[in-house]
Amino acid sequence: MVGTNTGKGGLTVNEGAYSAICAQINSGFEIQKLVQYIGWKPDKMVRSGDVYLVHCPIHQDSVFRTLVLNPRNNTYHCKHVNCAGNRPSDFLDLLVKVFNKSLPEVIHDVVTHFGPEYFRLSTKQVAIIGELVKVAREQRLIEKPA
Ligand SMILES: [Zn+2]
Repeated sequence: MVGTNTGKGGLTVNEGAYSAICAQINSGFEIQKLVQYIGWKPDKMVRSGDVYLVHCPIHQDSVFRTLVLNPRNNTYHCKHVNCAGNRPSDFLDLLVKVFNKSLPEVIHDVVTHFGPEYFRLSTKQVAIIGELVKVAREQRLIEKPA
């Protein structure tokens, strides 16, 4: 991730502030809320020792519970070798892959859905998220073929 200067009198978002927001949101997620947000009912979760197993929403498995959610460090990975979620990463990365959106858009969506107080975000952090999502949406418009 690189620093994003949003220009036009907007905030200059440095990498540190962005990483801190990502870490704060990721660690703030309760696993049941995450699963519900993806659209899974909590009863679809199976506890296995320290982790939870669910059907993988990335490769859309409805037979095996290949997706491992680790509440200790809020990370996930899919046990299916051909799945895009095979490499372990954090919950925000899971949402990026499930919803096929950019990271700033995912952050903006979850903060809108749960409210900034759920993740204990400051007013300044919320403003930074607003700037980041604006840039991400502009980039998406540019990348889209006419
Ligand atoms: Zn998968």
